[in-house]
Amino acid sequence: MRNPEENKTGLIDRILSILPQTQCAKCGFDSCRAYAMAIVENGVPINRCPTGGQSRIQKLAELLQLEELPLDRSCGEEKPYSIAVIDETTCTGCTICIQACPVDAIVGTGKMMHTVINDYCTGCELCIPTCPLDCIGLKNMSATLPFSEVWDTGHASAARERFERRQKRLDDEKNKLNRLSASKQPAQESASQAENKKSEILRKALERAREKAREYRHKP
Ligand code: SF4
Ligand code: SF4
Repeated sequence: MRNPEENKTGLIDRILSILPQTQCAKCGFDSCRAYAMAIVENGVPINRCPTGGQSRIQKLAELLQLEELPLDRSCGEEKPYSIAVIDETTCTGCTICIQACPVDAIVGTGKMMHTVINDYCTGCELCIPTCPLDCIGLKNMSATLPFSEVWDTGHASAARERFERRQKRLDDEKNKLNRLSASKQPAQESASQAENKKSEILRKALERAREKAREYRHKP
């Protein structure tokens, strides 16, 4: 008899292979994996991903042998494929947008102009409301074609890899800080406390950014 946990993990992976991997959080979950898990474990409806649109809902319905539901528009609308563009004449290099990007598509250092790596950008929009100077916009790359017709499995796997690599790096940094705190050496401890404080400030800034992103998406 097959292990039910193994079946569950396999199903989550198959759902994940259908989701677009932009990690945009429009579904109400922090990542595509979190949404896939919620579908399997909590029966969350399959129509909450506006990025993947109706074509991915249809695939999910086929996989799970469920009724194909129309997109839940409270999560957002299906849109063309777009990428972020930073107005380099206005950018002051505050680095906040870099922290918001789930796939490391923005490069730049403190007080230096930032730029978007076009090939990495998924158009998730998470960076847009984080900019205190409102200098990030979106450039439509697919005219009237919806995102799901342009964004193939190659794009999705590359975005997923970048996201997972970033998550691992952030986890490693956090673990390193925790180890430093545990070592109880005063100089290191104060350095790690300062880092923790910085992480906390960034975490709060990102929370505010996500909240602003939700408001931004629901603007008429
Ligand atoms: S692409 Fe965005 S809305 Fe779709 S499942 Fe992933 S995080 Fe959720
Ligand atoms: S640059 Fe902005 S829109 Fe592009 S992937 Fe990063 S956060 Fe999303």
